[in-house]
Amino acid sequence: MRGFKVRQHGGPEALEWGEWPDPVPGPGEALVAVRACALNRLDLWVRDGVPGHRFPLPLVPGAELAGDVLALGPGVNSPAPGTPVVVGAGVSCGVCAACVSGRDPLCAHFGLLGEDRDGGYAELVAVPARNLFPIPTGLSYVEAAAIPLVFLTAWHMLAARAALAMHEDVLIHAAGSGVSTAAIQIAALLGARRIFATAGTAEKLERARALGATDPIAPGDDFARAVRAATGGRGVDVVVDHVGGETFERSLRCLAKGGRIVLCGATAAAEAKVNLRAIFFKGLSVLGSTMGSNAELGTLLGWFERGVLAPVVARTLPLEAAREAQELLASRALFGKVVLAVDPDATSVPRPRA
Ligand code: ZN
Repeated sequence: MRGFKVRQHGGPEALEWGEWPDPVPGPGEALVAVRACALNRLDLWVRDGVPGHRFPLPLVPGAELAGDVLALGPGVNSPAPGTPVVVGAGVSCGVCAACVSGRDPLCAHFGLLGEDRDGGYAELVAVPARNLFPIPTGLSYVEAAAIPLVFLTAWHMLAARAALAMHEDVLIHAAGSGVSTAAIQIAALLGARRIFATAGTAEKLERARALGATDPIAPGDDFARAVRAATGGRGVDVVVDHVGGETFERSLRCLAKGGRIVLCGATAAAEAKVNLRAIFFKGLSVLGSTMGSNAELGTLLGWFERGVLAPVVARTLPLEAAREAQELLASRALFGKVVLAVDPDATSVPRPRA
């Protein structure tokens, strides 16, 4: 197969194009012909390396992918070869107490495609068959690839961890990011009353409004002050944050009593000062969240099937342009996902199977 591997960490050149041996599906696995693979910030960490963390190099990056089943490994009977699939990005043991209770990310063996085992920056990938889901009707491979990691992350944050209820108010940071474009739609789906959103540009905020953000906060405005002013001093019930640092500190200040802040990353800074008095006096919760379960992904894909949620694809580039695609992602200039078309058919909508 052709594709990219990271054999040694470094800059864009660490993404090495080549012809590699085809993967062979092991017991419980399926071989998937990758049609499209979406990028994530994780791919940059895999390329650059993270101090104190060891990736299993050489590694094919790419956590989010869609394609067609090509072959099944031992002990696997479905889905039939030829089935168009979207692939769950989280891989866990499937048999421990965390896994069987639907909390896959808490499994001691939990990992991600493109981080702990080969991912989708290549023509072929072997994945656990239980990670395969039918592509929702009407979506192309490119659109399907823009779902599994970001939407599942946002769904688990809002529905499971923060338990966002009808008529609650929510603040979503970095509205142009993949997770936030998902979070805005999911907050609307769960019945949020007001959806505040921050972003670096007015154009991104307009796009956020189109997705369902009711209260975009102008870039440069003090968001904590804007939220308090708009809510009569009450604040919001839930904050979705993956920026961290100073944004986290100010977010705590605009939570209402009983409010929850839920974090799935800290792209700006991993350390923040916390006023513990505010936490106990106002009954606040600080919630960590990583990915979600395959069962939740199944539920989530149902909402795509019904057309309630929609993938947000900013740019599609051919697989060979992965280095350029990563630079686009790193620039933070885009609204939504950057997706690699691994196959010329990537932008087509797979025909439903009889
Ligand atoms: Zn497990």
